[in-house]
Amino acid sequence: MALERTFSIIKPDATRRNLTGAVNALIEKAGLRIVAQKRIQLTRAQAETFYGVHKERPFFGELVDFMISEPIVVQVLEGENAVAKYREVMGATNPANAAEGTIRKEFALSVGENSAHGSDSLENAQIEIAQFFSGNEIVG
Ligand code: UDP
Repeated sequence: MALERTFSIIKPDATRRNLTGAVNALIEKAGLRIVAQKRIQLTRAQAETFYGVHKERPFFGELVDFMISEPIVVQVLEGENAVAKYREVMGATNPANAAEGTIRKEFALSVGENSAHGSDSLENAQIEIAQFFSGNEIVG
């Protein structure tokens, strides 16, 4: 097992409903450590860059509008197999398919407003962390 870091976003639907602590409780219960965290307002340009891989998809415009609609909380999570583990803690993209006890099952409103983002690979985790945190902001 490898100690990894992954990148997480608590999305606007969750920050709007004051669920940052409730989401963090599920993260910590799963054994992941929050080693960096800050609340920020994404710019449109930042949101478009972050979700650039989806720019041809029909939901891209809505997704960007949603991600800038309220502040978000960006985080670095550390733990054994953190990338895969956090994907499990989040649950399926569509909350209708998410397992009991996951963030998305508990809190998501829809496939778009689904409360959390987590990196899908170790390589993307490193790229995403670097978009939002400098090294000295991460304290393991
Ligand atoms: N999304 C959406 N409609 C869709 C699929 C995805 O609005 O049909 C949004 C949703 O917020 C999702 C994000 O786009 O979390 C990124 O999609 P991806 O397939 O990468 O899912 P994730 O990795 O977040 O589970």
